[in-house]
Amino acid sequence: LVCVAKDFDFFYFVQQWPASYCDTKQSCCYPKTGKPADDFTIHGLWPNYNDGTYPSNCDSTNSFDHSEISDLTNRLQKDWPTLACPSGDGLKFWGHEWNKHGTCSEDVLDQHSYFEKGLDLKKKANLLEALKSAGIRPDGKYYSLDNIKEVIEESLGVAPFIECNVDTSRNHQLYQVYLCVDSSGSNFIQCPVLPHGRPCGSKIEFPSLSDSNEEL
Ligand code: 5GP
Ligand code: 5GP
Ligand code: 5GP
Repeated sequence: LVCVAKDFDFFYFVQQWPASYCDTKQSCCYPKTGKPADDFTIHGLWPNYNDGTYPSNCDSTNSFDHSEISDLTNRLQKDWPTLACPSGDGLKFWGHEWNKHGTCSEDVLDQHSYFEKGLDLKKKANLLEALKSAGIRPDGKYYSLDNIKEVIEESLGVAPFIECNVDTSRNHQLYQVYLCVDSSGSNFIQCPVLPHGRPCGSKIEFPSLSDSNEEL
């Protein structure tokens, strides 16, 4: 019997909506590789405990090494871009996510598997397609939070947690979607505990990057 040490219970898989990251007071910087598409991008895959707490920075001897994931660079640039300022190529963001979160699941997923799981989970979740096929589009209009949640739950079989932020006019908008994933990093599960994301109103804006402000 092989026993793998695992010091966490499940993952939060967190995707962000770029336009909502960018159209706030803080604005954003498009990555060096170009303006992202109007699609969800990955924020992170975060090991968590069932009681709502989480480990972080678990192994300083296993810090981020780009050479281990160089074959994933193109996919990461598209699906896991950095929108923080100053404009970056993603390495700093991926390094932060690996060092802070990824090292806490290293007994289950090595660096390459960790980033590959993130990319695979985004494809599997396919959130934008699910929303679009229910008529929920990033057109700057307002949609019911319950409806957004129902559509995602019908598509994936598990309930998402939706986090909102506010644009410069203080309108609540869809900012991040949290999905829970089992400790293998492969299967969506019902969340054992809800995250502490900022709340939404009952109707929320779904903005497009075409109306957002990049820092010039
Ligand atoms: P924020 O305060 O912006 O929601 O989160 C700041 C950072 O704390 C996140 O980028 C993430 O690294 C970490 N974090 C926040 N909430 C959670 C959580 O519920 N679980 C885990 N594992 N990390 C979290
Ligand atoms: P967390 O600690 O919440 O997992 O990650 C947030 C950190 O990653 C912050 O230091 C933030 O500046 C940096 N970061 C770089 N690019 C991005 C991005 O596109 N989105 C978010 N949410 N954080 C980013
Ligand atoms: P319930 O899930 O029991 O309907 O809601 C419990 C509380 O959590 C309510 O205050 C509700 O607004 C909030 N809540 C439930 N689901 C979500 C969600 O996906 N995102 C956010 N931001 N709040 C939620």
